[in-house]
Amino acid sequence: MDRREIAALLAFIGRLDPRTSRADQGEARDQIAQWHELLGDVPTATPHGWDVYAAARQHIRLSPYPIRPSDIARPWESYRRDRLSRHTDPTPFADPDDQAAWMAELAVARREVAAGTAQPAPAPAISSGRDGIDPALEARLKAIGSCIPPAARAALAPFRRSRAAREEALAQGQPHALSVRCEWCLAQPGEPCRRRRIGPDGGPRGTVPRSTPHPGRVELANGQHDVRPRHTTPA
Ligand SMILES: [Zn+2]
Repeated sequence: MDRREIAALLAFIGRLDPRTSRADQGEARDQIAQWHELLGDVPTATPHGWDVYAAARQHIRLSPYPIRPSDIARPWESYRRDRLSRHTDPTPFADPDDQAAWMAELAVARREVAAGTAQPAPAPAISSGRDGIDPALEARLKAIGSCIPPAARAALAPFRRSRAAREEALAQGQPHALSVRCEWCLAQPGEPCRRRRIGPDGGPRGTVPRSTPHPGRVELANGQHDVRPRHTTPA
């Protein structure tokens, strides 16, 4: 606010709270000089929510004490703090190797946000989950049953034999060992059985996937498969 704006603000305050108005010309000039010294960097209003007249009015409305410059400066500082706390520096357009330009662009953006001339840039967040999925894509996904197209799946089969075997078994309605947990090597459903690798010193050296499941797991899967229809058929 410049001197003229300060004078207008003091006139407005004087109308709402006559205690603050100065009848004497010299006193009024001193008051304007004092307020200008303290509030010269506070704008009258910003496009995003700050209004010095609203702040003054609010103080006079709520406080029994005559308004002082700090009663304007404090809400202004908290307005700035609030905006900066909601601001996440967006990636500058400047060349990242030009550090001076990069920092300058970040600083300018922060100053604009603090001064209320630009809106804070919020942290990027996931705005929607599967709700936002394209209906056409959803139908296609349902028909295929997987994000991997059938052709790509067939091409991958030689490289993931156990998974291909399981998928084939499932497609034919047969049980497959991988649909249950292996009690022997503790492989989770969907994961292939693993065998231990033994190092030259006879100690274990990690595990590698087996191309065939452990026999106990096959039996377990077959057993569960036999049991299932009995549960589903009404007695
Ligand atoms: Zn196993």
